[in-house]
Amino acid sequence: MAYESSELADEARNLIASASALVREWAEEGVSDFPHARAVTREPAPSTPTAPASDSSPEPPPWGDRRPRLEEVKNHLGDCHRCGLCEGRQSIVFGDGNPETDLMFIGEGPGEQEDLRGLPFVGRAGDLLTQMIEKGIGIPRSEVYICNIVKCRPPRNRNPLPPEVSACRPFLDGQIRAVAPKVIVTLGKPAASLLLGRDVAITRIRGTWQSYQGIPLMPTLHPAYVLRQYTTETRRAVWQDLQAAIERTRA
Ligand code: URA
Repeated sequence: MAYESSELADEARNLIASASALVREWAEEGVSDFPHARAVTREPAPSTPTAPASDSSPEPPPWGDRRPRLEEVKNHLGDCHRCGLCEGRQSIVFGDGNPETDLMFIGEGPGEQEDLRGLPFVGRAGDLLTQMIEKGIGIPRSEVYICNIVKCRPPRNRNPLPPEVSACRPFLDGQIRAVAPKVIVTLGKPAASLLLGRDVAITRIRGTWQSYQGIPLMPTLHPAYVLRQYTTETRRAVWQDLQAAIERTRA
């Protein structure tokens, strides 16, 4: 069979698109170990932050078992130098929104825009999240509380490393305790894996009710993933998850 050069180019484009989709799917499903690829790559495989670092346990927070105020958690974080992420940051991105809310969103870590503005989810993924909250579930973004696993931007937007997650964990836990939401929505695999304490396949568990310390937890897709896979299916999936979450806050 003879191919025209334009057909070959189309064929190559399709092949590249399928390969990229497959790699994205593997990443979503938590496949990060490619032994053959490791022999030719210099960067370590990205890790999923499920386990605390064994080398450095963070100091216990001063609020202990009591419910702190959000300000207290923020003050204790201070001008944090507990991990290496402080070196490249412009701002500490603590969180944003209503501390009295019933609905809390947790993402992974600040990106470039968030680092520059000191607010979570204000870049492209953030705009989509804001739309999903305001148009999808019909409440102003300022009515919910939004934060991340880590409060400083990882270099080149890589996944936060276990020691970084571990250093920031008391502050995320403090925020959850302070806000005491009726429902938590985790955005993407890292936040769901961290709070559930196991490596989850986000495309499988999204939309299914889970629980974190007695608080109903709805895992959904990360808005950055939705932007990459901008299909009716992914948008509908997130819309359904958010509907379920808001309904549960009203139950
Ligand atoms: N992605 C996240 O996980 N958090 C942000 O704040 C922005 C992008």
